[in-house]
Amino acid sequence: MTRFIFITGGVVSSLGKGLGAAALGALLQTRGYTVRLRKLDPYLNVDPGTMSPYQHGEVYVTDDGAETDLDLGHYERFTGVPSRSGDNVTTGQIYWQVLARERRGDYLGATVQVIPHVTEAIKDFVRADVGDADFVICEIGGTVGDIEGLPFLEAIRQLGNELGRERSLFIHLTLVPYITSAGELKTKPTQHSVKELLGVGIQPDMIVCRAEQPLGRDARRKIALFCNIRESAVIQALDVDSIYAVPRSYHAEGLDDEVCRHFALENAGPPDLSVWDGIMARIRHPDGEVTIGVVGKYTSLLDSYKSLAEALTHGGVANNVRVKIKWLDAEIFERPDSACHLEDVHGILVPGGFGERGAEGKVAAARFARERKVPYFGICFGMQMAVIDAARNLAGLTGAGSTEFGPCEHPVVGLLTEWTRGETVERRTSDADKGGTMRLGGYPAELLAGSKVARVYGTTRIRERHRHRYEVNVNYRATLEEAGLTFSGMSPDGQLPEIVEYSAHPWFIGVQFHPELRSKPFDPHPLFRAFVDAAVEQSRLM
Ligand code: GLN
Repeated sequence: MTRFIFITGGVVSSLGKGLGAAALGALLQTRGYTVRLRKLDPYLNVDPGTMSPYQHGEVYVTDDGAETDLDLGHYERFTGVPSRSGDNVTTGQIYWQVLARERRGDYLGATVQVIPHVTEAIKDFVRADVGDADFVICEIGGTVGDIEGLPFLEAIRQLGNELGRERSLFIHLTLVPYITSAGELKTKPTQHSVKELLGVGIQPDMIVCRAEQPLGRDARRKIALFCNIRESAVIQALDVDSIYAVPRSYHAEGLDDEVCRHFALENAGPPDLSVWDGIMARIRHPDGEVTIGVVGKYTSLLDSYKSLAEALTHGGVANNVRVKIKWLDAEIFERPDSACHLEDVHGILVPGGFGERGAEGKVAAARFARERKVPYFGICFGMQMAVIDAARNLAGLTGAGSTEFGPCEHPVVGLLTEWTRGETVERRTSDADKGGTMRLGGYPAELLAGSKVARVYGTTRIRERHRHRYEVNVNYRATLEEAGLTFSGMSPDGQLPEIVEYSAHPWFIGVQFHPELRSKPFDPHPLFRAFVDAAVEQSRLM
């Protein structure tokens, strides 16, 4: 029997609902339950794929090729359950579906309305494909009171009613601000937010309170009284030193106990949090520290590099060191005498990116790493820029570039219009819509036996997630290999370069995919583990 937990947010946004949902999923797993996590996003974009990283943060790509909200990354990092395209839906997708049905005549002449047609489509999404999961944790994006969120709240209200209390639970996450001049925590915003929720017919069963100061007995009692829940269902969520401390902290505050009590699962054995305690012990007591320079474009909104930053932390956990990230705007490296910004780093990482701005700076950073023998990790765009450096400065193709920036003499990175996925041929054109025209999701690659990357993975067959329009041009392979750049990973048909490396460099690897999407604190990605290890080596030399 699958139980559904709905998580809403109140008072302000950015309270960490996604993390809260992920941590609750992890806690239920420590009690032996299986979970699925889902997110309902109220915006009208069909998916976040076309949204600016400055506004929306990272686009998280699932193995089955969906471009989703970054919260799905938290879900996967905390639970290890691979997210799927059906785990994230937006208002845009729901309406798209409803309107397509209307055009097909599926509604048999009925007047198509938000209730019941839109709400039914939302409910179908929540219930679809849950398999035999014990729990589905469903986060509702946005804040209660937003106009866009109303159809979602109405849909989960109906679901709560249909499933009954024994199969549904509503958790509301709010902020309890501390007013310095009064020296007090204020519960009023929470009370108002719950009123708002009651106005759409949802009585929360539990309230999780984000607060900077501990909630005293009084505040707790007040919230319980005014919001109509028992005191033990008011859970305080104080700030913690690492996101991986959240499961332990929520457990200490009784979150999972209260959830189990609600569902009458009190006889379940005590949870085993040793994995999380082990991770935190390593994060809190590292043996040393390394600095990684991340040369990117969206460094003013670090949410754009969420999975990347986490994967570096995981690489640190694997090596028992703290990884300090030095965020560097790529454009710096387009100015003379800028190499000094890279002098003190133990590794250079050029992450994924789009567009011409900053690209030359990234090529310069790759060149610096190659010439100075500093560990280099190029991810997607970072691989493409390293290939441009090799072409120009090792193979003598001065006119080398990427067609992403316009025509060039030697398109060592170019738009490929046709490729295969298993048995099927996939196509894109240069003037296609921007949404959904990339090579997206998991693809296999074959690694060159004996290469560095084959040693890192410990295998020669891998599968990694992609999100890009351009590909390294295989027609330049021979020229570039002659110049010293080994193509150590290829698509099974040998057409798409997936990994490049220099055998004569301590650690220089470029990958066309996004390994950061698969890394977990309890299972660090081999490339991040090995890259941080190489940075540790480098720190010994400096
Ligand atoms: N802009 C490049 C492309 O589309 C790289 C994309 C990325 O780094 N994710 O191919």
